[in-house]
Amino acid sequence: MFSKDIGIDLGTTNVLIYISGKGVVLDEPSILTVDTDTKKVLAVGQEAKEMLGRTPDKIKVVRPMKDGVIADFELTEIMLNTFIKKVKGKNLLRRPRILICCPTNITQVEKNAIREAAERTGARKVYIEEEPKVAAVGAGMDISKPTANMIVDIGGGTTDIAVLSMNNIVSSTSIRIAGNKLDEDIIKYIKSKHRILVGEKTAERIKIDFANIYKPSKKQKLEVKGRNVDTGLPDSIEITEEDTKNALKESVDKIIKAVKEVLEDTPPELSADIVDRGLIITGGGSSLKGFRDLLQDELKIPILTAKDPLRCVVEGAGLLLNDIDLLEKDNELD
Ligand code: ADP
Ligand code: MG
Repeated sequence: MFSKDIGIDLGTTNVLIYISGKGVVLDEPSILTVDTDTKKVLAVGQEAKEMLGRTPDKIKVVRPMKDGVIADFELTEIMLNTFIKKVKGKNLLRRPRILICCPTNITQVEKNAIREAAERTGARKVYIEEEPKVAAVGAGMDISKPTANMIVDIGGGTTDIAVLSMNNIVSSTSIRIAGNKLDEDIIKYIKSKHRILVGEKTAERIKIDFANIYKPSKKQKLEVKGRNVDTGLPDSIEITEEDTKNALKESVDKIIKAVKEVLEDTPPELSADIVDRGLIITGGGSSLKGFRDLLQDELKIPILTAKDPLRCVVEGAGLLLNDIDLLEKDNELD
């Protein structure tokens, strides 16, 4: 039997796993629930997310990599193990090679720790790759050529911006303003303008299903339910698209500013390539309604959205598994 390879997108919000020859076999939130008395992990992934905002005090919902750094290594390892075991069992994998794409801000020590954690699951070999590179490959870019490719990946915890050429990152940055921050902005705005407190899950739904940050309408309304800050009782109000634009403006502006700064740091020849080829936006946050148009207005260069923003990295990992030589070369440098 062939030993199949595994590609993992260890994201701050979602973990996805790809098995060569099969495609994406797991897609679950990077969340666990823990009993604070016994310290026991009660649920991992999807099952844990369903408990968000609905747990008694002694049960804590943890996102171990929330801001793009590993806040809790032990829980990250338990989560990674649970997911790898889940897919290995179903797919009868023996000693697979594993490629892991980690958040960009993690330290070398954390990288090594993740490598060791994956090795302990029985991997034959573990490769760690930089996420922007894998995202670029997943978005269909040929990053081996001496032309510039630019990628903006808006995830949950971080927005990662990079210009790549000849398999390397030429200029890049990572800021902690991404999907989670946008949810917080919505919570804050509704609380201060309408005196209603909404939960994290409700805020995320407003962002995904309703928010619009480009030419928003004042007429398009949405009913929002939560707890009235003054009375403490359940209450509902209406918000408009324009409210969402106002709520998100500051954070969106910071993301756009960061993109501009990376462009300013890019050598002129490569900038010229980006003007011709445009830049690709990916990650769940890039689907925010109006973001693409706003960025295009601000930068005056073509902005393309990756085919499947939530799966771009894991698809890239799948493609890279076919290029073991490149992975070997990259991982020797670590
Ligand atoms: P990570 O790589 O950090 O795990 P993802 O790329 O999976 O993150 O993106 C997760 C983020 O994308 C979450 O904050 C989620 O709310 C947000 N998101 C997903 N779909 C949409 C959408 N259609 N519009 C806006 N935000 C979205
Ligand atoms: Mg990601």
